[in-house]
Amino acid sequence: MSLGGRVTGAIGTGHGVETGAHGRAGGIGHVVVRPGGPACACGRRGCLDAVASAAAVARAWAAASGTADAGADDCVRAVGRGDAVAAEVWRAAVGALADGLIAAHTLLDCRSLIVGGGLAEAGDTLFGPLRVAVAERIAFRRLPEVVPAALGEAAGCLGRGCSPWTRSRRPALRCSSGARGVRSSGRGATGRR
Ligand SMILES: [Zn+2]
Repeated sequence: MSLGGRVTGAIGTGHGVETGAHGRAGGIGHVVVRPGGPACACGRRGCLDAVASAAAVARAWAAASGTADAGADDCVRAVGRGDAVAAEVWRAAVGALADGLIAAHTLLDCRSLIVGGGLAEAGDTLFGPLRVAVAERIAFRRLPEVVPAALGEAAGCLGRGCSPWTRSRRPALRCSSGARGVRSSGRGATGRR
């Protein structure tokens, strides 16, 4: 999963990246996690993209803080300062992310849930509560590891760059840079508008 201006994703298998029938497999950003929630660019409401992308966190923090040009990175810093309002914005986003990851895990029985993109640069501020939230929702499944993408913020861009090859179904593609198949929209990673 890549958490940039949008939430995107890809499904890595032992044989490369699974593309699906139309090249769209892994599009976790449009899994509805908050029915009736904020409007999404896809036309539905409550998609993961609309509630937990960097852009969504930026919008929520801008509204909560009264700072029109606030970015997701500003929210992360406020969380670090112990700001209770920012913590609530962050908790809501992390909970939605966990719900989306659990939906993916329920379908795919993942070994690893790999999270990159600009929002993942928050480090332990993200991964600490996200691991807890995933564990709280795991039910009867085995708990997958929740890890940062090896290439951090760049993982999504490199994954997108590799995607034409994966769509052509070349066997056992491995990006020589080490990217692990996470794709991104290329929009601002901090969500700042
Ligand atoms: Zn959507």
